[in-house]
Amino acid sequence: MEEIVIIGAGPVGLMLACELSLTGARPIVLDKRTEPGELPRANGLGGHIVELLEYRGLLDRLSAGSPFCGTPPGFPFGPVPLRFAGVDDIELRMLLIQQPRLERLLGERAAELGVEIRWGHELTSLTQDETRVLLEGADFRLGARYAVGCDGGHSLVRELAGIGFPGTTDKEMMWLGHFTTARTTGVFDHPDMAGLQPGWNHTRTGRLLLTSLQPGVQVVGVREERTPPAEPVTLADFQTAVRRVLGRDLPLGEPIWLSSTVTQARLAERYRAGRVFLAGDAAHLFPAGGSALNVGMTDAINLGWKLSACLGGRGSESLLDSYEEERRPLAERTLMQTRAQALLDRLSGEDGEALRTLLAEIFAYEQPLRHLAELLRSPGRYGEADHPLVGRLVPNLTLTTENGEQRVAELMHRARPVLLDLGGGAVLDDDAGDWIDLVRAECDNPPADTLLIRPDGYVAWAGAEGLSAAVNAWFTPPARR
Ligand SMILES: Cc1cc2nc3c(=O)[nH]c(=O)nc-3n(C[C@H](O)[C@H](O)[C@H](O)COP(=O)(O)OP(=O)(O)OC[C@H]3O[C@@H](n4cnc5c(N)ncnc54)[C@H](O)[C@@H]3O)c2cc1C
Repeated sequence: MEEIVIIGAGPVGLMLACELSLTGARPIVLDKRTEPGELPRANGLGGHIVELLEYRGLLDRLSAGSPFCGTPPGFPFGPVPLRFAGVDDIELRMLLIQQPRLERLLGERAAELGVEIRWGHELTSLTQDETRVLLEGADFRLGARYAVGCDGGHSLVRELAGIGFPGTTDKEMMWLGHFTTARTTGVFDHPDMAGLQPGWNHTRTGRLLLTSLQPGVQVVGVREERTPPAEPVTLADFQTAVRRVLGRDLPLGEPIWLSSTVTQARLAERYRAGRVFLAGDAAHLFPAGGSALNVGMTDAINLGWKLSACLGGRGSESLLDSYEEERRPLAERTLMQTRAQALLDRLSGEDGEALRTLLAEIFAYEQPLRHLAELLRSPGRYGEADHPLVGRLVPNLTLTTENGEQRVAELMHRARPVLLDLGGGAVLDDDAGDWIDLVRAECDNPPADTLLIRPDGYVAWAGAEGLSAAVNAWFTPPARR
């Protein structure tokens, strides 16, 4: 019997496979595609996931050759710009990376860690009993102790596990096309582009997106109330849609890729049904861009070490339940803010314009700006605790350790629990020392005497008293102070 099978080798499934391997499990990944995909979907990652990738030592690899990695000067909240210039300590980080490249690099990392990815394996049946999950496809049959559906918005795993996916489907659909263009500047000088501007343009019958994400490629999006076609989108479909919304033709270049989608806002009723879990788009669909991979890949980082701990006999059922308890409320918050973005985008006419203008004025003030930047970075903390760091990603402190100067990020590369003693004199049981890394360090303005950091980089406990109880609560075997 396999330990764990992941269905879906998208960014979330691959991230989960890496996390499981790093923390000692041996996952198998199944994907119905015959090879890694080349579809241009996400153009980047933003928020905590960028910090988490640094904590795994992956950020340098992923950001090599990227046009941008860092804190951006601004961010679009739907159609309303957030401008961070002049506001200190905004911690929202972004990494521009095309999804096929992200998947390729995560796939390489998974291969280095020994993960087996079985392409051309479409799951068609999933059943479970108290001891195992049985997964079947046309030419395979696998038993596993656990299965995770990372199989995207149409998740069959979710359906077969009997998990509902309530929410709403937008009345509008979007046609999206990437076109070659010889012009990298002056696109809007063409007479047929008169009256149009980069970004979204509202018209009487819909909206038109004009943008470019790389030199020589023009991205055109058309939103209108219509049922999406059942067949693959043709250039003629696309041109007709432009004409319907704009009232005239646009000078489109050669099509590189054409697609149609309908935006949905949905959240799985549960993230777990027995031995089956959901992560990524299989668990949530957000109606505005920019947050899906942040939330989805962080699901994977939350779940990976917990499943490994249970497989290795170091975790309990309640540890597995904490995955949904921690991650679902954050997806709910993300759904709230992306629904708001989508509505702001959708409101047309003078009323919509008035609301967008007013919000742009409010978002120029520091407090709302900080609130939104934090909401986009991470939609909240895990649980409630007295210490402000508990349930949050540990800050990337600069430490002086016996090995010299180190950042906290370096301590998290191996995805092991870390007891960071910043002067509290913490003591671990001898056996706990084998699987919790005790690091004694000094730093400027220590945020606590001691921090117990989970393998996913989140603070489990902070303070001076109660270490033993915290270790017992999160990990076995126990430790004492
Ligand atoms: C046009 C567009 C632009 C976007 N831009 C952004 C952006 O800028 N930032 C952002 O964060 N997000 C963006 N997104 C969203 C982002 O692409 C998704 O959130 C992301 O792909 C979800 O990853 P995932 O691994 O959960 O699922 P997916 O990427 O959908 O992967 C699911 C995998 O499961 C496999 N699979 C499905 N069913 C089965 C089965 N029965 N058996 C075996 N395998 C199966 C599929 O082949 C696929 O490989 C965008 C999406 C679109 C469409």
